[in-house]
Amino acid sequence: MGSVLGHLKPELVWYHFEEICKYPRPSKKEEKIAEYVVSVGKRLGLQVEKDKFGNIVIRKPATPGLENLKTVVLQGHIDMVCEKNRDVEHDFDKDPIYPYIDGDWVKAKGTTLGADNGIGVACALAVLEAKDVEHGPLECLFTLDEETGLTGASSLKKNWLKADILINMDSEDLGTIFIGCSGGKNTAATFKSKLEKSPRNYSTFELKVAGLKGGHSGLEIHVGRGNAVKILNRAIWSYSQENNIRLAEINGGNKHNAIPREAFAVVLVPKNDEKKLKKFVAKYNDTVKAEYVSVEPDLMVSMENIQLLKK
Ligand SMILES: [Zn+2]
Repeated sequence: MGSVLGHLKPELVWYHFEEICKYPRPSKKEEKIAEYVVSVGKRLGLQVEKDKFGNIVIRKPATPGLENLKTVVLQGHIDMVCEKNRDVEHDFDKDPIYPYIDGDWVKAKGTTLGADNGIGVACALAVLEAKDVEHGPLECLFTLDEETGLTGASSLKKNWLKADILINMDSEDLGTIFIGCSGGKNTAATFKSKLEKSPRNYSTFELKVAGLKGGHSGLEIHVGRGNAVKILNRAIWSYSQENNIRLAEINGGNKHNAIPREAFAVVLVPKNDEKKLKKFVAKYNDTVKAEYVSVEPDLMVSMENIQLLKK
């Protein structure tokens, strides 16, 4: 098979990408592509190591004169998502990917191309091979099985990497380096509360925080949007520090990965305190609106008199 991508630039990147396409690399079946990556490191006379899981590190010393720079990890995963058109005969365990050029795009015949993360791996290999790229000490890390559970990265040998800067080669925007990312953690908290009958001579109100923009808890977490659950809890908490207030119900937010846009609580206060609560909520509304003035112009904290259902 002649080279299809050989004339694309940077040549070393496309050379390695085309080579990578020749080796099967479904998740959990990365033996062949791992052999290729190791063979490149050895051919270049570089230090190649594997951990128990099969992750590979190839170390390249700094360009002469740049030894004092901090070591940087270039990290990519060597598995790919294997999908094919129904009418295509293709065995991802054995067959190569056939890349071709379609206008401005490199595509694959009938299958996924595996540019995720083949191009990242190719870039790292190209940097290892290049003689005209200036760099400090490098540790190129090739991880297994990203696509079906990140098991390679999470099984990584402890204290293996010397660097404390890592550039992940699996981002999606050309020419952009991500300097951080969002993680996710679910917390389920349960606690037993003691319920009591609603006291006499209390009035019932619904407190409401609304008008927030919400958004994705990862992608939009840095823009400083308001969290309705926090804003509501802060109101109840600060009022309760010096006043009598009972909580009947509280809820807010509806998705684990969305910033809560609305939150509600049903509270009871002594009849004589109605005015006090109203004044507090009006003042609190002004305070938080001022805090979020540039990000959340429609934020509104309000209260409404309601009737509790008699049981
Ligand atoms: Zn990926």
